[in-house]
Amino acid sequence: MISALMPNYNRADLAFERGEGAWLWTVDGRRFLDFGAGIATSSIGHGNPHLVQAIAEQAGRVMHVSNLYRIPQAERLAQRLVDNTFADSAFFCNSGAEANEGMIKMMRRAMAQTGRAERIRIICFEGAFHGRTLATLAATGNPHYLEGFGPPVEGFDHVPFNNMNAVRDAIGPTTAGIIVEPIQGEGGVRPGDLQFMRGLRAACDEFGLLLGMDEVQSGIGRTGKLFAHEWAGITPDVMSVAKGIGGGFPLGAVLATEAVAKFLIPGTHGTTYGGNPLACAAGNAVLDVILAPGFLEEVERKGKRLRAGLDAIAREYPQVFVEARGMGLLLGMKCAIPVGEVQPACIAEGLLAITAGDNVLRLAPPLVVSEAECDEALDMLRRAARRAQPSAAKAAAK
Ligand SMILES: *Cc1c(COP(=O)(O)O)cnc(C)c1O
Repeated sequence: MISALMPNYNRADLAFERGEGAWLWTVDGRRFLDFGAGIATSSIGHGNPHLVQAIAEQAGRVMHVSNLYRIPQAERLAQRLVDNTFADSAFFCNSGAEANEGMIKMMRRAMAQTGRAERIRIICFEGAFHGRTLATLAATGNPHYLEGFGPPVEGFDHVPFNNMNAVRDAIGPTTAGIIVEPIQGEGGVRPGDLQFMRGLRAACDEFGLLLGMDEVQSGIGRTGKLFAHEWAGITPDVMSVAKGIGGGFPLGAVLATEAVAKFLIPGTHGTTYGGNPLACAAGNAVLDVILAPGFLEEVERKGKRLRAGLDAIAREYPQVFVEARGMGLLLGMKCAIPVGEVQPACIAEGLLAITAGDNVLRLAPPLVVSEAECDEALDMLRRAARRAQPSAAKAAAK
């Protein structure tokens, strides 16, 4: 008989009852170092007292009123995002896919409202992940995810990632813009070359297209900048944000320049929960931590230390790992054996790591992780590599 929860996930047999910082405790008392952070989402750690207090206080006052009224918490969060990014205006929603839906609609609408209604197509990349709604599935383009869900939403063209010639070849008279992840997270922790990111901006400027940035995974400090595209010294026209922005509370956002956002007049787009007082109280509490002086520099420093450790482990265990990749605290280990064998070995050593495409083990700890915890994770990963390495290598190492 079917389980009461629908069977659409492959869940590990672990149930957690409590978390603190980068640690999680199971209901049966086992402790794990959480380097998955609920898929790069628990950005300021489990049980963060500042976030817990902000949510509890707001919940006690008023959780939800709808967007029929002004929401001071949302106005404040929007202003802070505007002050710290390229954007002039923000729209709040509840998830990454919903943010991407909003971004796609805004890109198309900006074209339609500037006399270019035929420009509806968006160039996306092989290996991308943009969500599971019908339009974001089409933007994702992975045939495996699209199978059985009817005709994919029209208007998405896929080209190889990090290949500027392919992008320029794909631009046509019906192209509205480009949507790119500055680091492909689900696709295997693959960073866009900075030169490539600049090339995308230049091509959009040259052809009058809009550059959409999917920073759902890479944003909110994950790479040591508030948003990962900042490393390339470029700005997008529109950007989707989610995961880390709520620190575990569901919250998403679309940030845009005035040139794009001004067409989102009353009635063009909406959501019932989006940006409610409770979600925005959580978002503001997360920003209090992430925007504190020195915080992002710390993320960068810890990321470099972790990356150096991962590089060393990749060299020590070539039968298990091919290479380390990624930036800041969005890191990956490309595996030489199936990642499905490496990840359980990590769990057996007390380390929660997650898988990504391209046979990659993904490490995305809470941004508040300590250096000592990074070192501990590296020790656990080393032991996991010994546990997972092929038996011939094991024998040779003896
Ligand atoms: C997770 C993710 C999404 C989808 O977010 P959901 O909240 O699961 O809808 C979209 N884009 C990127 C880059 C992501 O990592």
